[in-house]
Amino acid sequence: MRKSIVAGNWKLNGSLETVSQLASGVASQVSNLNSEVVVCPVYVHLNPVASAVSGKKVALGAQNCSAQLSGAYTGEVSPGMLKELGCEYVILGHSERRSLFSETDSDVSEKMKSVLEQGLVPILCVGETLEEREQGLAELVVKTQLLAAVEGLSSDAVQTIVVAYEPVWAIGTGLTATPEQAQQMHSFIRGVLATVSQSVAEQVRILYGGSVKPDNAQELFAQDDIDGGLIGGASLNVEDFVAICKAAG
Ligand code: 13P
Repeated sequence: MRKSIVAGNWKLNGSLETVSQLASGVASQVSNLNSEVVVCPVYVHLNPVASAVSGKKVALGAQNCSAQLSGAYTGEVSPGMLKELGCEYVILGHSERRSLFSETDSDVSEKMKSVLEQGLVPILCVGETLEEREQGLAELVVKTQLLAAVEGLSSDAVQTIVVAYEPVWAIGTGLTATPEQAQQMHSFIRGVLATVSQSVAEQVRILYGGSVKPDNAQELFAQDDIDGGLIGGASLNVEDFVAICKAAG
């Protein structure tokens, strides 16, 4: 039985004051839930958010990291530094990083290795654009991104990762994949993971992301292969995010 996860990707939002309030508000209302709850602020907000959720049932995640562990890499932040701040998760390969910051499958693969070596859990994002879906390429795109990211990893390592299926056309657009569309892709992803091993396929949590809101979360999370969500806009509001966490159990 896979434990569900709801992760809030706060993207480039908030101030020291508002993220602390958001984190405390969420932490005060999720203590009885069975699902794991994760919040992912920007790097410079990790420390105050770590304080706000300390001792609470909310884990900390980053939105990106360097593949490098240390050295002459101006402006980068390493997985070890994130771990020192209390991070357990790191979002990798988000479509905004792929499209706006030119991250390639090979960059994501390097980051996966570093993050796993430091004992952090990558939340690996995969997903197709609208154009790719319309051309019938959605599964091929997702499979290519997924296999590139896990290439060279042991099956023990792959077993610990979290995958987030985020169709690019559903991110921030209000257009959610239908529960059937999402389930179909999640089941396909599990099939691709089965090529690593059957137990990997059974254990890896696969989250859905893209315009998840309190009113569609329950139906999405009820699908067999959907183990929770990666939430953007709705994670910036305590009531909405808590309602989504409750929908995951
Ligand atoms: P929205 O929930 O705002 O569509 O964003 C999804 C997302 O990109 C989470 O990583």
